[in-house]
Amino acid sequence: MHTTKQVAQFLKDNNNYVIIPHRSPDGDCLGSTSALLLALRALGKNAKIVLPSPVTQRLSFIWDSSYEEGDFEPEVAIAVDVAAPYMMLELYDEVFSKAKSTVCIDHHGTNEGFAQINCVDSQAAAAGEIMCAVIEDLGVELTKAIAERLFVAIADDTGGFQYSNTTTRTHRAASQLYGAGINSADIMRALFATRTKAEMNLLKFVTARMEYHFGGKVCTTWVDGEALEQSGAEMSNADAWIGLTRSVDGVEVGLMFKVLAENETRVSLRSNNYVDVASVAQKFGGGGHVRAAGVTFLTNLETAKESLLSELEKLV
Ligand code: AMP
Ligand code: MN
Ligand code: MN
Repeated sequence: MHTTKQVAQFLKDNNNYVIIPHRSPDGDCLGSTSALLLALRALGKNAKIVLPSPVTQRLSFIWDSSYEEGDFEPEVAIAVDVAAPYMMLELYDEVFSKAKSTVCIDHHGTNEGFAQINCVDSQAAAAGEIMCAVIEDLGVELTKAIAERLFVAIADDTGGFQYSNTTTRTHRAASQLYGAGINSADIMRALFATRTKAEMNLLKFVTARMEYHFGGKVCTTWVDGEALEQSGAEMSNADAWIGLTRSVDGVEVGLMFKVLAENETRVSLRSNNYVDVASVAQKFGGGGHVRAAGVTFLTNLETAKESLLSELEKLV
């Protein structure tokens, strides 16, 4: 395992970087990758980001198409907030594995260290928390633009500093970002208090389809093509409501099932106090964090649901 200082030294000594976030990129990976990009460019390095899947409207305020531009041959690939190679989709084979050197900066407990240089800290609330240290070690000035992106990263993965992954270190990092002149209220509103009309329409389906299991300790809901069509939403809009499943009084584990195809069901798992959902997800080939994890079943909704519920019955 490598320290942030070692990673920073490596980044100073090399050039021609391609940075890769995970599929369906969230605020942590887009915030962390774009902050790293700006820091590397400030050092005069060639750097660009390649995306496994597009940036959603919710996060477009920290995105610029110039981040994906750069006329150079990549030498070093840096995966950020990526728990496992398949989270980069085809970019793993096409870009990451072709690079001369590979780096991974991540905070998933299930990360097995797939890069040559691995800076993985599962105690960090967000990849952005580790990235704050990397950028400090690089000796790059913490500009407002970099600070805003790091704040998006940390705020998004902690649910606005509400989740149990939030620590003293998280607040220390955030405090430095405030020092760089960010407007936290604007960022928090953009991340947590702005919903599209389509998301609001989708909310009706999410709540109407909620079911309680095992005496109300597990809450499930599901989103399929029909719900999306009738609400004018996209599947990524469902992410706005994942947390609702575990916010019901008495619920320990919340599950949202996303029907992607007849035999492809993606599941988001969330827990409150004692169930390690990362290890539940890992049993079925997924992974993540103790309180937030994900897994994709190559089955229909019913089979995926039965598999997960029979596992959870033992744990709640
Ligand atoms: P999600 O429910 O997709 O928001 O995922 C919750 C957390 O688990 C995020 O940190 C994801 O990066 C991680 N995660 C989701 N799916 C997987 C997977 N198949 N393998 C490893 N980690 C995952
Ligand atoms: Mn992420
Ligand atoms: Mn993350």
